[in-house]
Amino acid sequence: MRALQLTGPGTLELREVPIPEIGPADLLLRVGAAGICHSDLHVLHLPFQLREDPLTLGHEIAGTIEAVGANVDGHTVGQRGLVYLCWSCGNCRECVSGNENVCLAAGRVAMPPCPGLGPDGGMAEYVQIPASSFVPIGELDFLQAAPLADAALTSYHAIEGARAHLRPGSTAVVIGVGGLGHVGVQILAATTATRVLAVDVSAEKLALAADCGAAEGLLSESATAAAILERTEGRGADAVFDFVGTDSTARLAVESVAPNGAYRMIGLGGGAPELTAGPAGGPGWPWGASVRKSYGGTKSDLINSVALARSGKLTVEVERFDLADGRAALDRLEQGLIRGRAVLVP
Ligand code: NAD
Ligand code: ZN
Repeated sequence: MRALQLTGPGTLELREVPIPEIGPADLLLRVGAAGICHSDLHVLHLPFQLREDPLTLGHEIAGTIEAVGANVDGHTVGQRGLVYLCWSCGNCRECVSGNENVCLAAGRVAMPPCPGLGPDGGMAEYVQIPASSFVPIGELDFLQAAPLADAALTSYHAIEGARAHLRPGSTAVVIGVGGLGHVGVQILAATTATRVLAVDVSAEKLALAADCGAAEGLLSESATAAAILERTEGRGADAVFDFVGTDSTARLAVESVAPNGAYRMIGLGGGAPELTAGPAGGPGWPWGASVRKSYGGTKSDLINSVALARSGKLTVEVERFDLADGRAALDRLEQGLIRGRAVLVP
């Protein structure tokens, strides 16, 4: 089969590789579509290799069951679904409490095994997955379904964890209206009564945010925090979802979150927010605000995301590419030219 593989730091190659041989608890999925996440760009730019042998990228996967492992019950060839990306143990205290994204087996700072970031991923014709990670999608189109596996899962989880802050009359700021952010705006619109202020460096992305349900778009610049305070009677936003995570967006989040507000870090841009223990006052960190570094989501978050999409309340804006054009799609993403999510079709 053909697979898009990372063969060295910064090197991506479309290679002929054997179709995986599945174990007794696995499924073989024929890939229908695989989304491209900005995290794939972070991985491509790592100065070292995640794995010694070539690694097939792709952690947003939808497809059809092609073969079923000997010990798997309840799944049959031909079922359509997507892949929950936290391949967690399923048995630890966190997993059984529904916190599979922070599975104990992963240790303190690692994440549970994730296809395309350790085990081979879905930018290929076939992928081997644990049967426990398969989530049915009904009649959903594969191009729509694949991005739910991360862009929706991760956004849903960050929003779910801040739901108490999102009362009617509240304001939420979404920084970065890319693959995750444009889905996040829709999840806020569909599941809360909050007013969404979207922030991006690109006017086109702000137009997309408006299509997704944002009340207003603000260009990311030095005056953005002041503009948010102006719109919130000087208090700031009840929740700030940062889908970029650089120094400048971290500063914006700290300067625009309300007292008792929720600052959620999702973007992995390496930014360091300045949170000081000094007295509040002046610009900076207000009393009572909380920060959470949010990783992926729970299986329940994913099932809820699929339900939103199936009910028509969440539509991913998709740009389709052939698997062979994966590198070009990643380059377009890097240049900020993708509207919504780029999705590969093998
Ligand atoms: P993307 O490239 O599709 O979107 C990024 C958006 O941010 C673009 O619209 C871009 O114009 C905008 N942007 C860039 N700089 C900005 C700035 N200074 N101010 C405002 N907007 C700015 O990326 P994506 O796939 O949506 O991923 C977003 C981030 O989330 C990445 O860092 C990715 O690695 C990370 N991520 C984290 C998790 C997690 O579990 N925490 C999961 C998936 C992705
Ligand atoms: Zn991702």
